[in-house]
Amino acid sequence: MTETDDALSSLHSAWSRSSRLIVLQAAGGVILLWGLVVYSAYRGHEDAIQARRAVMAQTVSVVQAQASQIFTLLRVTLQTADQWIVRHPKSDPSRDPEFVQLVDGFRKSSGGRVDIRMVTRDNKLAYVPFRADAAATDVSDREYVKAQSDPLRRGFHIAAPVFSRVTKKWGIPVTLPVSSAKGSIAILFGNIELDSLFKSQSDGAEFLALTITWLRNDGIVLARRPFEPKFIGMSVTQSPDWLGRLFQEQSGVFISEKSPVDGRTRLVAFSRLDEYPVIALVSVPLVDVLLPWKRQTTILLFFALLLTAAIGAITFRLIRAVHAGEKASVALEHANQELTILSVTDKLTQVFNRVKLDEILRSEVSRASRYGTALSVALVDLDYFKQVNDVYGHAVGDEVLVRTADVLGRNIRSEDTVGRWGGEEFMIILPHTEPGQAALVAEKIREAVEFENFAKVGKRTASFGVTAFVDGDSEITILARADRALYLAKFKGRNRVVLDAQTPSKPAQKS
Ligand code: GH3
Ligand code: MG
Ligand code: MG
Repeated sequence: MTETDDALSSLHSAWSRSSRLIVLQAAGGVILLWGLVVYSAYRGHEDAIQARRAVMAQTVSVVQAQASQIFTLLRVTLQTADQWIVRHPKSDPSRDPEFVQLVDGFRKSSGGRVDIRMVTRDNKLAYVPFRADAAATDVSDREYVKAQSDPLRRGFHIAAPVFSRVTKKWGIPVTLPVSSAKGSIAILFGNIELDSLFKSQSDGAEFLALTITWLRNDGIVLARRPFEPKFIGMSVTQSPDWLGRLFQEQSGVFISEKSPVDGRTRLVAFSRLDEYPVIALVSVPLVDVLLPWKRQTTILLFFALLLTAAIGAITFRLIRAVHAGEKASVALEHANQELTILSVTDKLTQVFNRVKLDEILRSEVSRASRYGTALSVALVDLDYFKQVNDVYGHAVGDEVLVRTADVLGRNIRSEDTVGRWGGEEFMIILPHTEPGQAALVAEKIREAVEFENFAKVGKRTASFGVTAFVDGDSEITILARADRALYLAKFKGRNRVVLDAQTPSKPAQKS
């Protein structure tokens, strides 16, 4: 039976191997899937930022050009006004219709974004045309007044934004000193109106949440869109972005540090103006840049999860099917083993049947003839068995047969074979056994039968015909000799062992 167990356990491990293989393949698939998901998400992230970087670089060059244009327009305007004043030393410009017309023309050409004013030699604001309310406004504390009265800083100057005490609006004072030392006007002053500066640009880029900023070279915020007074005039020199990039480089695109104002990280593009101490800057929250990527990645993750669940479910079902197959196979194997046992077992006595005896005898004879090993065979026949049936009935006769098979089985060695040859006749095959030895074994068994107390029946005996393999023997010839020996045992009076005369050994006689 150990052979059967081995077969079953190897079958079992084969199935377990296929279960393991299924799990391994599924795990491999899931790992591959998530590897691809992570890679694709990572690439998508990089690509989204990279694509926006290019757009931002283009956008900032436009913003930089527009800023340059405005400053150049202002410079030209102020220089033209200065020349007019130099040419009309006796006129009061704010009251001269020609000058007023000139200034109005400039206002119109700037699209209302720039206003021209003047500062008198006693640091009072002068509007064009003359406005009485402004005449009282003292501006001696303004940065541009100080800059223009400093011989080292005097010239075209862009000041930090100021909140006008007259118009109640924020503006960037851009100033130029009047080159003539005569006349009442000392400084020409163009004011960039901050609340209308970016008006024309507000639509297109608005949906991108694009922020436009003008920074002065010293880190002061000059202008910002969307317009928010709290940022105007603020210094950014303390920010790591200023120290790391803006302060040093001509232009660039970078991802900002978290803003201390709103906690957001931004994609920032900047470019210095060529002729003016100004940096143009555009920025967009990284969250906005990554919005399409986030949406795509969410969908990707959703499908990857779905696929993972599907793989899990399929794997689970496959393994369950494998286990069911395994159980069925084991059951089938058991049934087969049982059938095999049944096919070689005598139904009544549970020893080998004639089919199996034939097979074993055939193989033992061929082995003996091939290797020259010894082989003996004994035929056993119960004496006067017919009487048992006649006296006690067929059922009791059956019991005697079962009991006899037991006695025979108990008295042979493990390498010997016992089987029912037919009726009340049994055969014992004794491999590697010389005839004399076989006769001794047969005698021992004969005694065991004789000693046995059969239920209801009492004492019975059996006769034994023993022979051994001789060269040239076949199953038929060896059986014929065993049969002859058995006949002789019967003839001589039964309950004895007869060793076939042809077998070259001394027969063991009944004691
Ligand atoms: P001998 O000593 O010459 O062998 O006498 P015997 O009566 O044993 O010999 P015989 O061949 O005349 O009778 C054999 C009997 O065995 C005949 C048959 O009824 C009986 N027999 C054969 N097979 C079975 C069986 O399976 N069950 C039972 N109960 N009896 C069987
Ligand atoms: Mg018989
Ligand atoms: Mg008999």
